[in-house]
Amino acid sequence: MNKSIVLLPGDGIGPEVVESAKCILDAVAQACHHTFTYDTKDIGGLAIDNHQDPLPEETEAACKAADAVLLGAVGGPAWDNNPAHLRPEKGLLRIRKSLGLYANLRPVQGFPELLHASPLKFDVVNGSDLLIVRELTGGLYFGEPSERRDDGQSVVDTLAYTREEMERIIETGFEAAMVRKKHLTSVDKANVLESSKMWREIVMEKAKDFPEVTVDHVLVDAAAMKLITDPTQFDVMVTENMFGDILSDEASVLTGSLGMLPSASLRKDGFGLYEPAHGSAPDIAGQGIANPLATILSAAMMLRYSFDMDHEATLIEQAVAKTIAAGYHTADLDVKNGTKMGTKEITDKVIDFIAEETPTESIMRCYA
Ligand code: NAD
Repeated sequence: MNKSIVLLPGDGIGPEVVESAKCILDAVAQACHHTFTYDTKDIGGLAIDNHQDPLPEETEAACKAADAVLLGAVGGPAWDNNPAHLRPEKGLLRIRKSLGLYANLRPVQGFPELLHASPLKFDVVNGSDLLIVRELTGGLYFGEPSERRDDGQSVVDTLAYTREEMERIIETGFEAAMVRKKHLTSVDKANVLESSKMWREIVMEKAKDFPEVTVDHVLVDAAAMKLITDPTQFDVMVTENMFGDILSDEASVLTGSLGMLPSASLRKDGFGLYEPAHGSAPDIAGQGIANPLATILSAAMMLRYSFDMDHEATLIEQAVAKTIAAGYHTADLDVKNGTKMGTKEITDKVIDFIAEETPTESIMRCYA
């Protein structure tokens, strides 16, 4: 299969981790006989420096013409005092909107070797493997009016959704459950909010189209509690924008390893933007010690969700799990009796494990 990918390395460690993920994609392309072509464009702080715009037109046009986008991270102290329209994160918000990405997928998987860094007890968090599907474009963050009134003595925000906006994200939740353990937890506040009542009705309607999926309804307050008391009970959680914002941040600390968390933002036709959940880590940029695994796992999500390459995605995910299980890790991860490595070395270790699983004798290592 031929696929064109736009790379948006961005700032800080972004270029280092995106380069690693590209090496992994090349290894998979070689092993499984695909052709991936890349177009690298500026975004964030780099784009401000080069084009006086965090999302230059040519970046936007290239993303629109591609099959998928892989992003590193944006931001850093150099741009912290810029006016609002020249902030690096504006580039991210604009590209998500311009590409019509409405579904954010955040998997949280506990690697047993890393769970001692979790704030939860090992026995509680061990075996966690969940996916949060969050609506990205509607709800309280975008509803109008949103304003101060009566000379600042009262305030209003608006939680608005159309049926169509709810239907498409709920469907994404069911579809994600179908390729996982077929268990969907719908999170709402249907005991209080009208929007949640409609949400729950739609979930029940859609459930008829996915009879293999077991569906639970959990109130958002209970969901927040269950995420820390019994996270292994979840497979896919689907929820609206603000609930998803809060729950996905809560879930991101469960496994104790920010450098291991991928994410995807998707459109209905399968097009997506993939990026690690972490930021640009300016404190370690350029030192060759950044953990590339979250970006590599984001590339695996790209193969699964945008290119329908489930086998290839699993190949990468298993190679990452084997790398960690064998004790190889970057400086941010604390692995007992492990072998600490730099960004390039651990990338080649992942390729070693990909090569083990494929009949192709000589897959090129990226840096060796
Ligand atoms: P951060 O995630 O960049 O870093 C937090 C800590 O984790 C730092 O100590 C960093 O060294 C470490 N870390 C993060 N990713 C790592 C990796 N892959 N390997 C090794 N260590 C890693 O968060 P922050 O420090 O709050 O933000 C730094 C900059 O990133 C800010 O400008 C912020 O606005 C931006 N940011 C961007 C995104 C994004 O692009 N999506 C997300 C969050 C923050």
